[in-house]
Amino acid sequence: MSDLGFTEITPSAPIYTSEHGGRAKCLQRLIRLEMPVPLTVALSFDAVHGVSAGDLPDLDALLTLFGPDPLLSVRPSSEDPDWGGPGAILNIGMNDNVHAKLVESHGELAANALYLRFIQAYAVHVGRLDPDEFDEFSDPTADTLQAALELYEEETDSYFPQDPKEQLTEVLRSMSRAWQGTTARLLREAKGAPADAGLGLVVQKMALGVGRGICGSGVIQFVNGKTGRREIRGRYMCKSQGRDALTGEDDRDVMYLTKDTRGRSIEDVLPDMFQALLDYGDLCRTRLREEMEVEFTIDNEHLYILDAVRVARSERANVRIAVNLAKDEIITREEAVMRIPPRALAELLHSQVDPQGTRDVIASGIGASPGAATGKIVFSARSAQAMAAQGEDCILVRRETSPEDIRGMHAAKGILTIRGGITSHAAVIARGLGLPCVVGASNISLEKKEKKLIAEDGRVLGEGDVITIDGAEGEALMGAVEMLPPELGEGFQTLMSWADEVRDIGVRANADTPPDARNARMFSAEGIGLCRTEHMFFDDDRLLAMREMIFADQPEDRRAALDRLLPMQRDDFTELFEIMQGLPVCIRLFDPPLHEFLPHGREGIRELAEALDLGMSDVEHRVAGLREFNPMLGMRGVRLGVTVPEIYDMQARAIFEATLDASKSGEPIVPEIMIPLVSAKREVEIVKARIDAVAAAVKIERGEEFTYRLGVMVETPRAALRAGEIAQHAHFLSFGTNDLTQMTYGLSRDDAGRFMGEYVNQGVYEEDPFHVLDTDGVGELLEIGASRGREEDPDLSLSICGEHGGNPESIRFCRDAGFTYVSCSPFRVPVARLAAAQLAV
Ligand code: PEP
Ligand code: MG
Repeated sequence: MSDLGFTEITPSAPIYTSEHGGRAKCLQRLIRLEMPVPLTVALSFDAVHGVSAGDLPDLDALLTLFGPDPLLSVRPSSEDPDWGGPGAILNIGMNDNVHAKLVESHGELAANALYLRFIQAYAVHVGRLDPDEFDEFSDPTADTLQAALELYEEETDSYFPQDPKEQLTEVLRSMSRAWQGTTARLLREAKGAPADAGLGLVVQKMALGVGRGICGSGVIQFVNGKTGRREIRGRYMCKSQGRDALTGEDDRDVMYLTKDTRGRSIEDVLPDMFQALLDYGDLCRTRLREEMEVEFTIDNEHLYILDAVRVARSERANVRIAVNLAKDEIITREEAVMRIPPRALAELLHSQVDPQGTRDVIASGIGASPGAATGKIVFSARSAQAMAAQGEDCILVRRETSPEDIRGMHAAKGILTIRGGITSHAAVIARGLGLPCVVGASNISLEKKEKKLIAEDGRVLGEGDVITIDGAEGEALMGAVEMLPPELGEGFQTLMSWADEVRDIGVRANADTPPDARNARMFSAEGIGLCRTEHMFFDDDRLLAMREMIFADQPEDRRAALDRLLPMQRDDFTELFEIMQGLPVCIRLFDPPLHEFLPHGREGIRELAEALDLGMSDVEHRVAGLREFNPMLGMRGVRLGVTVPEIYDMQARAIFEATLDASKSGEPIVPEIMIPLVSAKREVEIVKARIDAVAAAVKIERGEEFTYRLGVMVETPRAALRAGEIAQHAHFLSFGTNDLTQMTYGLSRDDAGRFMGEYVNQGVYEEDPFHVLDTDGVGELLEIGASRGREEDPDLSLSICGEHGGNPESIRFCRDAGFTYVSCSPFRVPVARLAAAQLAV
């Protein structure tokens, strides 16, 4: 900053985005490109901060710089234009004297309009008078002007200020204070601005746009902000200022830009100016390396460029623009990759609620899986299947979901639950299926019997009523709303291929079913990092065989039930291997507590009793016998493998037989088998011995050879601490950070959603640790596990397959810790690929 408290923007002036804001810096660039920008000065963040404390720049010097009777505009210039700022104020310097002169030079109507505009803005922004009262003065006659001046006088008990210095002082003060107001601060902080974000201001000589010759103002951009395609857009309005052309109600004076639009166009009427605008647009693109919207004024046939801002755009347009800039060699491919926030890809992969549409929110919770879907409400998995069978789209609304709901979830277009957090069952499955999902919507309640959903405001919805799930915002909306379709076009594919060129950590997908696997391939996952096999048992026939197995008293009966499941599992795996065409497939052995497979209500128990030919009370008794106080810490994972080993035997056999079957059509497959919930080395030894025995048996029976890789899921703190000895028996370790987070914090992943919001709001946790990896605590366990494992075996493959695998911050951590790959739900694979690439650039 100069001693005067302001800096004239010249090509060589010391103007910095971090001191004067983005607008000032951009104007300097336009000036350097020799565009006709009117004289402009910049006030730095410090200078503007000083203004509110009464420390003003040298305004006499500033006004002298602009010459006699200057009319000026003041606009905000924050570091990031997205952080907003007070509205521009135009025509500062207008007073009775200047008005009289302008009547002579520009005509009375023009002079009145300029004065009126300034009085209105000054009254509202500086005088804080009621905008409605000043809105009335739209017709620029002498009477209106008089009335506006009188109203100002009446309301403020003072004459309208005539001294330009006083006017400018008050405008600067009001803008500085507006920036410090609570609402403005909260709004910009919500957009990521730091608490001490500064405001700069730019003061610019007005190009009036309202004179006697050809005059007017407009905006032009060279790209469509919705699609990212190159096209000329914008509007111009005769005898206007600022952004009037965009809001222009007076259609008579509006001109379009190009010939091919309806009505008069600048291209027709002012072809030279049109060409100049195209040239400036090209200059912006090639030299500012960005698609800019240019604000311009034509004053007595002179063209002025007042400002240029980055074209506001959708995420899908952002991808196309970045790719086109790189293709035209204006930016590098790496830069294009860096310009796209990975999370923004969610907007391309799924349908979106059109941000321009109206929203009637009926429920709000956590957006657990992105995208949007509309359908009729159903309250049970069964109804979802029935509705889907009739070809109707439905939204499954549940208190929470359990494995029993899986088929209903497949049938639904979206999911809404009252309970649960980011790793609850509903959230995990929905992300896997690419279904929009909102969980933890605790502001609604369900009346199960009457099949009613009751909203906070008392509205009641029943089965068949239409709602829309907005998984991006974490809201359910009334009715069907306007949507934008997914966009996996050429721009997206090109960007992803560039990302893969630089990425140095692998990305696999968590995929349980053939459709998941196909999605994994569609998004170019490098294999399956986690196939949760339990989801394969919820088909009606399989569920029955499973239940028979659970209820069997004798090992022979158990084996007989498992023998019925074997061919089905073998087919599952064969299909997965075939879809993945030689890419690695990591199959996790059975993990959940057995009781999840048992019926809950009386009706379910009756059906099971009938199917198993047992008495109701017998079934009830056995179900009760399997009940656990803490099932997530109970008989699940490897504990079942040790105590009911026949299940893992069957799965291992199915995997090996499928390996041989699928290898016939191509390269030999090397399956990966993963043991869940390990906490002791001995567990691995016991399970490994049995799997080796099954492998040996299958080799003898089939007379064919194969190999397999055995891995361990590290998802208990003890497994992380003892990773060294566990690694003696494993080819790979995969960190299951969902359970590991649950157990490290002692937090239930299914229930923590109830208080997580409060915890994050109060700053107890910075983020939901189920959503963003807790790098301090859980992360330390990962580091300990990784280093102890690698000490034992330097070639040990390390990965993460919890939900954090798709989270950009967590991927950074895994890459820094030297992991081989991350694995996440298929629809997050592109996000992970891009995030990983950005770490490597
Ligand atoms: C985990 O615990 O992180 C994991 C991947 O397994 P699941 O979510 O199936 O418990
Ligand atoms: Mg787990």
